[in-house]
Amino acid sequence: MSREAEVLKILLEMSREISSQIPIRTVVRRLSLRLKQLLHADECSIMILDDSRKELAFSESTGLTRWELENIRFRVGEGIAGWVARHKKPVLIPDCASDERFVSIPHQKRPMISMICVPMLIKRRVIGTVSLTTRSSGHVFSEAELELAVLLSAHISLALENNRLYEISVSDGLTNLYNRRYLEQRLSKEISYARRFRKPLTVLMTDVDFFKKLNDGYGHQAGDYALRQVSETLTAGLRDYDVVARYGGEEFAIILLSTPRGRGASTAERLRQAVEDCDIRFRGNRLKVTISLGVASFPEDSDDAELLVDYADKALYEAKRRGRNQVCLYEEARTPAKKGFAEGGARRPNDRRDPS
Ligand code: GH3
Ligand code: MG
Ligand code: MG
Repeated sequence: MSREAEVLKILLEMSREISSQIPIRTVVRRLSLRLKQLLHADECSIMILDDSRKELAFSESTGLTRWELENIRFRVGEGIAGWVARHKKPVLIPDCASDERFVSIPHQKRPMISMICVPMLIKRRVIGTVSLTTRSSGHVFSEAELELAVLLSAHISLALENNRLYEISVSDGLTNLYNRRYLEQRLSKEISYARRFRKPLTVLMTDVDFFKKLNDGYGHQAGDYALRQVSETLTAGLRDYDVVARYGGEEFAIILLSTPRGRGASTAERLRQAVEDCDIRFRGNRLKVTISLGVASFPEDSDDAELLVDYADKALYEAKRRGRNQVCLYEEARTPAKKGFAEGGARRPNDRRDPS
């Protein structure tokens, strides 16, 4: 295959990967590996600019040790990568040792010989740098390779930017949790998976009790602060792979993966207690916050994503009806004997008078 054909093939593959469902870390790793192979480099590293700290840190690298990856940082203007980030210009350095911008890193295994460093730009804004290095004498990059690096680095920037925009589109600005749209898409996928592999799954819907009173009494900022504290408490009380989302104003939805109803109910109770025990202080005031939770599970209650949310919501309203600061299962909410939802006993919580 000619060099041009090889480059075109790689570009095509890169575009496909960028628009695929593959996780961003894997995409970036693959793109950097391709770049490294194409340029016969010994190493390819991607550094991301932390805008607030004006510092570049490694995101991906083939060849660096774990220590190097975690500890090496360059301020904007410092080292080759820092120079590139500041000037927004790619550079080709035939011999690193004789370049005054080069900062050598102590304990590095083999010295670097030649280096290419390219800024990753999105609309003239620097988001990071891509560096390629050779470590054997005689292997020096060419201008043609620099052009190739610029071309392929643009694809890496695009992949990262796509991912950033996606993250924004699925997250909630106040709490940094996922948003409702993400939760609904994710729940459909998880239900398909659960059906296929016969795994249980539990959905929790939760709503802050008398939140309007808190806003009215202490102000909207105190309310926002309380919402962030509740979201942190929920996240801290769950496993990494459970999904927590802000479903609406002061409502949160949780997907407990591989969790049957009984265990889901205990988790809900644990979360309720954790929020009740949470010491939330805002500008000298202690904010008393409690939540109510509704529980619905696959397969017992439904095998449909929308219905599970609806049932967990019904159970939540039953928990409100029964006095708040408690957990209710959909199973209980629909049992007529318990004067639950099926009897029309439950109203929207907003309809309820504050008994205090
Ligand atoms: P209940 O126990 O029945 O849930 O009572 P509640 O007062 O929590 O219910 P209601 O739905 O009447 O009030 C919800 C309040 O949440 C009203 C709204 O102003 C407030 N809210 C919604 N989103 C936000 C937000 O992002 N920040 C703040 N501070 N308040 C919010
Ligand atoms: Mg509420
Ligand atoms: Mg509400």
